[in-house]
Amino acid sequence: MSPLHCTYDRGGVHLPALDLWLDASKARKGPERVFVSHAHSDHIAAHRETILSPATARLMRSRIAGKRLEHQLAWNEPRTFETGSHRWSITLLPAGHVLGSAMALIQVDGQSLLYTGDFKLRPGPASELCQPVKADILITETTFGRPAYVFPPVASVLAEIQAFCRETLDRQETPVLLGYSLGKSQEVLAGLAGSGLTFAIHPQIHKLTRIYEEFGQTFAPYTELARDTSVQGNVVICPPQIQAAKFLADAGPLRRAVLTGWALNPSCRFRYQADAAFPLSDHADFPDLLEFVRRVQPREVMTLHGFAADFAQSLRDAGFSARSISENDQLHLALGPTACLPTRSFGD
Ligand SMILES: [Zn+2]
Repeated sequence: MSPLHCTYDRGGVHLPALDLWLDASKARKGPERVFVSHAHSDHIAAHRETILSPATARLMRSRIAGKRLEHQLAWNEPRTFETGSHRWSITLLPAGHVLGSAMALIQVDGQSLLYTGDFKLRPGPASELCQPVKADILITETTFGRPAYVFPPVASVLAEIQAFCRETLDRQETPVLLGYSLGKSQEVLAGLAGSGLTFAIHPQIHKLTRIYEEFGQTFAPYTELARDTSVQGNVVICPPQIQAAKFLADAGPLRRAVLTGWALNPSCRFRYQADAAFPLSDHADFPDLLEFVRRVQPREVMTLHGFAADFAQSLRDAGFSARSISENDQLHLALGPTACLPTRSFGD
């Protein structure tokens, strides 16, 4: 069996011959090593031994207590490990999803495997630029793996968000932007630097934003949202699941906008009970997923997360050898595409 043979288990990928996990969702306390692609909640757990970028290590320590053996790898610097009779290397490349998000290039016996974790090709205001490389086998995320998901340019989405905030402030109301605490919030806060807008950000977002600053990121002026903070004249940023009612009780009329790639679905703003929805995403859209595969030139592709079976079919239609490892292709072919949205979307 090839040392790159892998299996999928509840959000993680396992390479048994190398005793290596890629984004194991359950804490791994045994002898195995775990590559952690980035610090979103669905990609981290209290593992014994991790391989990750310095920024992901810093973000992960702020989210999960306890001591771990960490191999912090700089971009593009291969690290060699030995497992049984296999001598193999792992190289981290920027994924462009959130600060520190990495893809892993694994090389053994003259064969290579690229695992993307979550990624986007579009340059983002608060993430490194994604660096695809060629590989024999590609394991790619496919959150937005249907042709309908084509995101507008980031600059035009940011201009729309800015206009929404201005209009709301002009009406003497408070704009509330709903975005995940890691990644999306910093993307909008950096993207609207220089707009003249000032921000009040939820404490959860504040903690992570300070870590971005440790790594050299700059932002629009902001203060931490607190019970005694006046939000008058500020744009509030909150995680969507919180909405910060206790901070906003005295804020007067609010207008909420959710920031997510799912904003391309007309029902999105109703699902989030928001007044508006803007398609600011930290994932690749459908054209970028295809473009990414073309740049990697793999002989075999495995898809996971989101519309994995749909995207594998699109790749087969384009002449690639591809299969889904997180959705059952056969079941999918029998039942047809599902109408519901994937539930996994800590970054979206
Ligand atoms: Zn993510």
